[in-house]
Amino acid sequence: MKIMSINAGSSSLKFSLFDMDTNKVMVSGLFERIGIDGSCYTFKNSEFKIKQEAPLKDHADAVKILLEKLVELKIINSLDEIDGIGHRIVHGSDVYTKSVVIDDKVLEDVVKFSDLAPLHNPANVIGIKAFKEVLPNVPMVGVFDTAFHQTMPKENYLYAVPYSWYEKYGVRKYGFHGTSHCYINKKISEVLGRDDLKVISCHLGQGGSIAAIDSGKCIDTTMGFTPLAGIVMGTRSGDVDPSIIPYVMEKEDLEVSEVLTALNKKSGLLGISEVSNDSRDIEEAIKEGNEKALLAQKMFVNSVVKYIAQYYVELGGCDVITFTAGIGENSITTRQQIIEKLSCLGIKLDVEANNVRGEVKCLSSKDSSCLVYLVPTDEELMIAMDTLALIK
Ligand code: ADP
Repeated sequence: MKIMSINAGSSSLKFSLFDMDTNKVMVSGLFERIGIDGSCYTFKNSEFKIKQEAPLKDHADAVKILLEKLVELKIINSLDEIDGIGHRIVHGSDVYTKSVVIDDKVLEDVVKFSDLAPLHNPANVIGIKAFKEVLPNVPMVGVFDTAFHQTMPKENYLYAVPYSWYEKYGVRKYGFHGTSHCYINKKISEVLGRDDLKVISCHLGQGGSIAAIDSGKCIDTTMGFTPLAGIVMGTRSGDVDPSIIPYVMEKEDLEVSEVLTALNKKSGLLGISEVSNDSRDIEEAIKEGNEKALLAQKMFVNSVVKYIAQYYVELGGCDVITFTAGIGENSITTRQQIIEKLSCLGIKLDVEANNVRGEVKCLSSKDSSCLVYLVPTDEELMIAMDTLALIK
């Protein structure tokens, strides 16, 4: 069976077509700058890469070209070969606790939750509608970034604010990156042959979050009502005292939205280092003796370590800490710095084993009190697997 995994953003559309007999990507790619001048698309697999400029007035244009190209490039012989389409949907509120087949009611709900994710859900809706128009008979599944976290107990997902805010407006922690944390838990459970693991899953990319997972159920996570909360990220601040917002508004004569933009786009590694949001640049700047880059790195590592320590206690111990996403899969030094700070818990790294990128591997030493693993994430495959399971 062949399943397409789709991640639609406001001006982009990412796709991967999977052969589900082998779980291998047949082709993947990206449509960029949809509705903006200079739009283009990329198609690639192990044999070729095509990049082409093309006018893309809207997402429907992108979908039409995508489907035409699949046949033209002989990836498939006809569109009938596509058995299902899985859509990444950022916010499913507390209503969607797992992936679902998309019908009119689901689509209506995704529109309704735009209130909670104004930048993402509307783009996801556009993506769903564009495919519905061109392939009306192919079943579609919604895979929610928030779903995996919906097993958190109330004491972990509520904020200590007036209860009526939760009841009236849904003010609570939702958590994000759920598709990735779910995939990591599945993978590490397979590797270790156990489904009763206590896992601390560290997804450290441009955005970052950590999840505490007990026997497959998420019990706590770092992102909150929005993806702004939790650990220090590339350009997001992570946790801050909300009183900073009115204080800076007054000092700099700013609107709330401007301060929020600064917290989302000009903070984190970028805000502190004043060098870059990319950890590769931070590592380079540190080598050149840049003090602010060093400070940013220390703050990043500390924020991760604090949450690992918290979740270690919340879980009542830990069987395995996993690292994934851009930084987690590639930054050997960041992993080392994090694990070294956990030595008081008896967690120890095998420094030689840690000299690795992008493959499933045990990184802890034999005498470590808990396992440490590198597990590359694959959100697209997770979306395709959920889609297959629901349409079968
Ligand atoms: P996103 O959240 O956008 O999906 P990714 O998971 O792709 O992000 O992570 C991107 C980040 O990973 C980059 O901004 C960079 O900080 C980090 N990264 C990627 N490769 C390396 C590397 N070789 N060494 C250190 N950091 C890396």
